[in-house]
Amino acid sequence: MQAEEEKKSLTDAGNKREVKMGRYLEGKCKLCRREGMKLFLKGTRCNTEKCSFVKRPTSPGMHGARRASKPTYYALQLREKQKVKRIYGMLERQFHRFFQLATKSKAVTGRRLLELLERRLDNVIYRALFASSRNQARQIVLHGFVFIGGGRVDIPSYIVSQGQEIEIRAKDDVKKRLKETIEMISKERSSPSWMQVDNSNFKIKIARLPEKEDLVLAVNEQLIVELYSK
Ligand code: SF4
Repeated sequence: MQAEEEKKSLTDAGNKREVKMGRYLEGKCKLCRREGMKLFLKGTRCNTEKCSFVKRPTSPGMHGARRASKPTYYALQLREKQKVKRIYGMLERQFHRFFQLATKSKAVTGRRLLELLERRLDNVIYRALFASSRNQARQIVLHGFVFIGGGRVDIPSYIVSQGQEIEIRAKDDVKKRLKETIEMISKERSSPSWMQVDNSNFKIKIARLPEKEDLVLAVNEQLIVELYSK
Protein backbone atom coordinates (compact mmCIF):
# COMPACT_ATOMS: atom_id res chain seq x y z
CA MET A 1 0.00 0.00 0.00
CA GLN A 2 2.74 2.40 1.03
CA ALA A 3 4.73 1.43 -2.06
CA GLU A 4 1.65 2.11 -4.23
CA GLU A 5 1.22 5.57 -2.70
CA GLU A 6 4.88 6.32 -3.18
CA LYS A 7 4.65 5.13 -6.80
CA LYS A 8 1.67 7.43 -7.41
CA SER A 9 3.25 10.48 -5.81
CA LEU A 10 6.54 10.00 -7.66
CA THR A 11 4.75 9.54 -10.99
CA ASP A 12 2.38 12.47 -10.42
CA ALA A 13 5.29 14.73 -9.55
CA GLY A 14 6.99 13.71 -12.78
CA ASN A 15 3.88 14.23 -14.91
CA LYS A 16 3.34 17.79 -13.68
CA ARG A 17 6.69 18.72 -15.13
CA GLU A 18 5.97 17.18 -18.50
CA VAL A 19 3.43 19.20 -20.39
CA LYS A 20 2.59 20.69 -23.78
CA MET A 21 4.33 20.30 -27.13
CA GLY A 22 6.64 17.50 -26.05
CA ARG A 23 8.77 19.79 -23.93
CA TYR A 24 9.54 20.23 -20.27
CA LEU A 25 8.28 23.58 -19.14
CA GLU A 26 10.07 23.66 -15.81
CA GLY A 27 13.53 25.12 -15.35
CA LYS A 28 16.16 22.81 -16.78
CA CYS A 29 18.56 23.31 -13.91
CA LYS A 30 15.91 22.04 -11.51
CA LEU A 31 15.93 18.76 -13.41
CA CYS A 32 19.67 18.34 -12.81
CA ARG A 33 19.22 19.07 -9.13
CA ARG A 34 16.30 16.62 -8.95
CA GLU A 35 18.38 13.85 -10.57
CA GLY A 36 21.45 14.66 -8.48
CA MET A 37 23.77 15.03 -11.44
CA LYS A 38 24.64 17.41 -14.26
CA LEU A 39 22.45 16.54 -17.26
CA PHE A 40 24.03 19.23 -19.49
CA LEU A 41 20.74 20.70 -20.69
CA LYS A 42 21.89 24.29 -21.12
CA GLY A 43 24.80 24.06 -23.49
CA THR A 44 28.01 25.89 -22.72
CA ARG A 45 26.62 27.38 -19.49
CA CYS A 46 26.79 23.86 -17.99
CA ASN A 47 30.59 23.94 -18.02
CA THR A 48 30.86 27.29 -16.30
CA GLU A 49 30.65 28.40 -12.69
CA LYS A 50 27.12 29.62 -13.43
CA CYS A 51 25.90 26.01 -13.38
CA SER A 52 23.15 25.81 -10.74
CA PHE A 53 24.03 22.24 -9.83
CA VAL A 54 27.55 23.29 -8.85
CA LYS A 55 26.16 26.15 -6.75
CA ARG A 56 23.32 24.14 -5.17
CA PRO A 57 23.54 20.37 -5.64
CA THR A 58 20.49 19.65 -3.45
CA SER A 59 17.00 18.62 -4.64
CA PRO A 60 14.78 21.56 -5.66
CA GLY A 61 12.07 22.82 -3.35
CA MET A 62 11.94 24.25 0.12
CA HIS A 63 12.92 20.99 1.82
CA GLY A 64 15.22 19.75 -0.94
CA ALA A 65 18.31 19.73 1.25
CA ARG A 66 16.54 17.54 3.81
CA ARG A 67 15.47 14.75 1.44
CA ALA A 68 18.12 12.27 2.44
CA SER A 69 16.09 9.17 3.39
CA LYS A 70 17.11 5.92 1.73
CA PRO A 71 15.21 5.57 -1.58
CA THR A 72 13.25 2.41 -2.32
CA TYR A 73 14.33 0.19 -5.19
CA TYR A 74 11.35 1.43 -7.20
CA ALA A 75 12.45 5.03 -6.64
CA LEU A 76 15.95 4.16 -7.89
CA GLN A 77 14.51 2.58 -11.04
CA LEU A 78 12.22 5.54 -11.67
CA ARG A 79 14.97 8.09 -11.16
CA GLU A 80 17.23 6.26 -13.60
CA LYS A 81 14.53 6.33 -16.26
CA GLN A 82 13.75 10.01 -15.63
CA LYS A 83 17.46 10.83 -15.87
CA VAL A 84 17.81 9.30 -19.34
CA LYS A 85 14.51 10.78 -20.55
CA ARG A 86 15.62 14.23 -19.46
CA ILE A 87 19.08 13.95 -20.96
CA TYR A 88 17.52 13.22 -24.35
CA GLY A 89 14.62 15.67 -23.79
CA MET A 90 11.91 13.07 -24.25
CA LEU A 91 8.47 12.56 -22.77
CA GLU A 92 7.12 9.28 -21.44
CA ARG A 93 5.22 8.04 -24.49
CA GLN A 94 8.10 8.50 -26.90
CA PHE A 95 10.62 7.10 -24.45
CA HIS A 96 8.47 4.01 -23.95
CA ARG A 97 8.24 3.62 -27.72
CA PHE A 98 12.05 3.58 -27.90
CA PHE A 99 12.10 0.97 -25.13
CA GLN A 100 9.65 -1.23 -27.02
CA LEU A 101 11.79 -0.92 -30.10
CA ALA A 102 14.82 -1.99 -28.04
CA THR A 103 13.03 -5.10 -26.77
CA LYS A 104 12.46 -6.30 -30.33
CA SER A 105 16.20 -6.63 -30.89
CA LYS A 106 18.28 -9.71 -30.08
CA ALA A 107 20.85 -7.46 -28.36
CA VAL A 108 20.78 -6.72 -24.62
CA THR A 109 17.73 -4.46 -24.18
CA GLY A 110 19.35 -1.78 -22.00
CA ARG A 111 22.32 -1.34 -24.26
CA ARG A 112 20.15 -1.38 -27.35
CA LEU A 113 17.95 1.32 -25.81
CA LEU A 114 20.97 3.58 -25.25
CA GLU A 115 22.17 2.86 -28.78
CA LEU A 116 18.82 3.86 -30.27
CA LEU A 117 18.78 7.05 -28.21
CA GLU A 118 22.27 7.94 -29.41
CA ARG A 119 21.09 7.47 -32.99
CA ARG A 120 18.31 10.05 -32.67
CA LEU A 121 18.81 12.77 -35.26
CA ASP A 122 18.83 15.61 -32.70
CA ASN A 123 21.46 13.75 -30.67
CA VAL A 124 23.58 13.21 -33.80
CA ILE A 125 23.52 16.96 -34.53
CA TYR A 126 24.48 17.63 -30.89
CA ARG A 127 27.27 15.04 -30.87
CA ALA A 128 28.64 16.41 -34.15
CA LEU A 129 29.15 19.79 -32.37
CA PHE A 130 26.60 21.67 -34.48
CA ALA A 131 24.63 22.50 -31.33
CA SER A 132 25.61 23.26 -27.76
CA SER A 133 22.69 21.28 -26.31
CA ARG A 134 20.25 18.63 -27.51
CA ASN A 135 17.50 21.21 -27.24
CA GLN A 136 19.33 23.50 -29.65
CA ALA A 137 19.93 20.53 -31.96
CA ARG A 138 16.21 19.79 -31.85
CA GLN A 139 15.51 23.36 -33.02
CA ILE A 140 17.93 22.96 -35.93
CA VAL A 141 16.05 19.84 -37.02
CA LEU A 142 12.58 21.33 -36.49
CA HIS A 143 13.50 24.40 -38.55
CA GLY A 144 14.09 22.11 -41.52
CA PHE A 145 17.83 22.69 -41.91
CA VAL A 146 18.72 18.99 -41.91
CA PHE A 147 18.85 16.84 -45.04
CA ILE A 148 19.54 13.11 -45.19
CA GLY A 149 20.41 11.56 -48.53
CA GLY A 150 19.20 14.76 -50.23
CA GLY A 151 15.75 14.83 -48.56
CA ARG A 152 14.70 17.12 -45.75
CA VAL A 153 14.12 15.43 -42.38
CA ASP A 154 12.51 17.55 -39.67
CA ILE A 155 11.79 14.84 -37.10
CA PRO A 156 14.16 15.06 -34.09
CA SER A 157 13.44 11.44 -33.08
CA TYR A 158 14.40 10.07 -36.52
CA ILE A 159 16.85 7.18 -36.02
CA VAL A 160 19.90 7.38 -38.27
CA SER A 161 21.45 4.30 -39.89
CA GLN A 162 24.98 3.28 -40.77
CA GLY A 163 26.25 4.86 -43.99
CA GLN A 164 23.74 7.73 -44.03
CA GLU A 165 24.98 11.16 -44.99
CA ILE A 166 23.53 14.13 -43.16
CA GLU A 167 23.89 17.71 -44.27
CA ILE A 168 22.84 21.01 -42.78
CA ARG A 169 21.58 23.44 -45.40
CA ALA A 170 20.80 26.94 -44.26
CA LYS A 171 21.23 30.59 -45.15
CA ASP A 172 24.60 32.23 -44.61
CA ASP A 173 23.65 33.96 -41.37
CA VAL A 174 22.56 30.65 -39.83
CA LYS A 175 25.75 28.95 -41.04
CA LYS A 176 27.80 31.78 -39.54
CA ARG A 177 26.14 31.19 -36.16
CA LEU A 178 26.69 27.44 -36.51
CA LYS A 179 30.39 28.02 -37.19
CA GLU A 180 30.67 30.14 -34.06
CA THR A 181 28.93 27.39 -32.07
CA ILE A 182 31.29 24.74 -33.44
CA GLU A 183 34.31 26.88 -32.56
CA MET A 184 33.07 27.36 -29.02
CA ILE A 185 32.05 23.74 -28.37
CA SER A 186 35.14 22.18 -29.89
CA LYS A 187 37.09 23.62 -26.95
CA GLU A 188 34.95 21.50 -24.58
CA ARG A 189 34.31 18.22 -26.41
CA SER A 190 34.89 16.37 -29.66
CA SER A 191 32.61 14.34 -31.92
CA PRO A 192 32.46 10.56 -31.35
CA SER A 193 34.35 8.12 -33.55
CA TRP A 194 31.18 6.49 -34.95
CA MET A 195 30.55 9.52 -37.11
CA GLN A 196 32.73 11.43 -39.56
CA VAL A 197 32.13 15.13 -39.31
CA ASP A 198 33.05 17.71 -41.92
CA ASN A 199 32.53 20.87 -39.91
CA SER A 200 33.43 23.30 -42.66
CA ASN A 201 30.87 21.82 -45.08
CA PHE A 202 28.27 21.04 -42.38
CA LYS A 203 28.21 17.35 -43.21
CA ILE A 204 28.10 14.19 -41.11
CA LYS A 205 28.52 10.59 -42.20
CA ILE A 206 27.43 7.76 -39.91
CA ALA A 207 30.54 5.60 -40.23
CA ARG A 208 29.22 2.86 -37.93
CA LEU A 209 26.59 2.36 -35.27
CA PRO A 210 27.51 3.36 -31.70
CA GLU A 211 29.01 0.47 -29.73
CA LYS A 212 29.32 -0.28 -26.03
CA GLU A 213 32.35 1.96 -25.51
CA ASP A 214 30.55 4.84 -27.25
CA LEU A 215 27.62 4.73 -24.83
CA VAL A 216 29.17 6.88 -22.16
CA LEU A 217 26.17 7.98 -20.10
CA ALA A 218 26.59 7.54 -16.36
CA VAL A 219 23.35 5.58 -15.97
CA ASN A 220 22.37 2.07 -14.98
CA GLU A 221 20.18 1.10 -17.91
CA GLN A 222 19.37 -2.26 -16.32
CA LEU A 223 17.21 -0.42 -13.75
CA ILE A 224 15.13 1.03 -16.60
CA VAL A 225 14.66 -2.41 -18.14
CA GLU A 226 13.53 -3.79 -14.76
CA LEU A 227 11.11 -0.88 -14.29
CA TYR A 228 9.40 -1.44 -17.64
CA SER A 229 9.43 -5.22 -17.28
CA LYS A 230 7.18 -5.22 -14.19
FE1 SF4 B 1 22.24 21.30 -15.37
FE2 SF4 B 1 24.18 22.99 -14.65
FE3 SF4 B 1 23.45 22.79 -17.17
FE4 SF4 B 1 21.75 23.91 -15.40
S1 SF4 B 1 23.74 24.71 -16.04
S2 SF4 B 1 21.26 22.43 -17.03
S3 SF4 B 1 22.25 22.66 -13.58
S4 SF4 B 1 24.38 21.15 -15.95
